[in-house]
Amino acid sequence: MINGTNNNNVLVQIRDLSVVYHTRLGPLSAVDDVSFDIFRGEILGVVGESGCGKSTMGKALMRMIDRPGEINNGQIIFDGEDIMTFDAHRMRDFRGRKVSMIFQDPMTSLNPVQRVDEHIIEAIQVHEPKTKKTSALDRARGLIEKLGIQSRRLRDHPHQLSGGMRQRVMIGLGLVLNADLIIADEATTSLDVIVEAKLLDQLRDIRDTLNKTILLITHNIGLVAELSDRIAVMYAGRVVELGSIYDVFDTPLHPYTRGLLKSVPNIRLDEDEALYKMPGEPPNLTHPPAGCRFHPRCPEVMPICSKIAPRLETARPNHLVHCWLYQEHPEKETPTVAVKS
Ligand code: SF4
Repeated sequence: MINGTNNNNVLVQIRDLSVVYHTRLGPLSAVDDVSFDIFRGEILGVVGESGCGKSTMGKALMRMIDRPGEINNGQIIFDGEDIMTFDAHRMRDFRGRKVSMIFQDPMTSLNPVQRVDEHIIEAIQVHEPKTKKTSALDRARGLIEKLGIQSRRLRDHPHQLSGGMRQRVMIGLGLVLNADLIIADEATTSLDVIVEAKLLDQLRDIRDTLNKTILLITHNIGLVAELSDRIAVMYAGRVVELGSIYDVFDTPLHPYTRGLLKSVPNIRLDEDEALYKMPGEPPNLTHPPAGCRFHPRCPEVMPICSKIAPRLETARPNHLVHCWLYQEHPEKETPTVAVKS
């Protein structure tokens, strides 16, 4: 139990997961030795800068890493079964039925020459070949209306819909097979704030009424604060902090999380506070720094940090952090920080 929680509540256990891309410049370590759990019925927000590995990790959960990438280590245990052992046939069934993904750009994800109903019927019949077209169409109607789109729009092609409608169609495609886990990868990035707010309500509704588990991958911390139960902060391919929204926002432990939260713009116009700029740049992951990958930028770096990588460990109840400040090691020269629970 990595999070101190009953195993029955855990839908996905990710253990020692690593993903590498084989590039001309050498292997690029996009996700490195990541372990954490996703609980049933929760919305888990995954945040971090571009290139931190959050989307790669989402794709890895569906074993959708294309060449030149590969999952080169780890287990993904979904509802008690290690999906890394599934053959291609079982994986096809797993994708869609157990896990579905809402992609960020509906215009490139939807086929421009297919009508909306054809997209949905095809998704149903690929996984349920015995389902007749008429009953698939009935399901498509019910689903699309639940998402606030009139069923007559099923006859439309993607370009005839607004951006918000297209994104709702993508959500519909993610829901149509009743998958347990929905991965929303920057699903609202292309939308204006009003449509985005409506979609957020719908995602929350989906979780509450259909008891789905949602992995919300985004660079938008405000979105995560608004919608998620827990947050996983990623940096340079690793999860560096994981806890409830309240714990991580009220008491951020990792120096990167603290910097990230300080660099979020404050929209109060009466406050004239300068935005915090994180020093340095994210590392080149073909040659990541040894030890803690944040050490070249960390204001609290210690000698051990550049030599040995810490583990993601519990610092307070259900609040994990990947940082030597909170962990003991014989080579560590500075006292460990005591964290009040
Ligand atoms: Fe900073 Fe060291 Fe913690 Fe890394 S392990 S975040 S370098 S204090």
